[in-house]
Amino acid sequence: MITAIGFTVLGFAIMEFSGWFIHKYVMHGPLWMIHKTHHQPSKSFFELNDLFSLLFGSIAVALILVGASGLDYRFWIGIGISLYGVLYFFLHDVLVHRRLKWFDRPKSHFLKAIFRAHQAHHKTNQKDDAVSFGLFLIPKEFLKEEEK
Ligand SMILES: [Zn+2]
Ligand SMILES: [Zn+2]
Repeated sequence: MITAIGFTVLGFAIMEFSGWFIHKYVMHGPLWMIHKTHHQPSKSFFELNDLFSLLFGSIAVALILVGASGLDYRFWIGIGISLYGVLYFFLHDVLVHRRLKWFDRPKSHFLKAIFRAHQAHHKTNQKDDAVSFGLFLIPKEFLKEEEK
């Protein structure tokens, strides 16, 4: 049981840390051609940038399948990546970008911080001057409520 939880948390954490790294150095780097579709207003529901979600999702499914017979560490890491993917979808795609109009603007302190930090990431549509590349790893200035 403890192994299952441990590897699930590990899979989740790997996604946030490697996601931060990939977003900053690959998506805002050599693969900007794909990621820039997420920094420009899009005319259709899907963006070329969704390929990244598809890629991470496929990795999770592959891990779950190869680990399924023995419910080994690969299975649980795959579950952790999937959980991250679901949460990422709700927070990033629905809450922040409102691709589906399911929620109003966030009211909790933590969700507001995620919202502000990711909006700051989208202040620019350029490759090089973006800030705040994680979803949960937020630069600390966004954790403070703005004084009004
Ligand atoms: Zn970006
Ligand atoms: Zn975004």
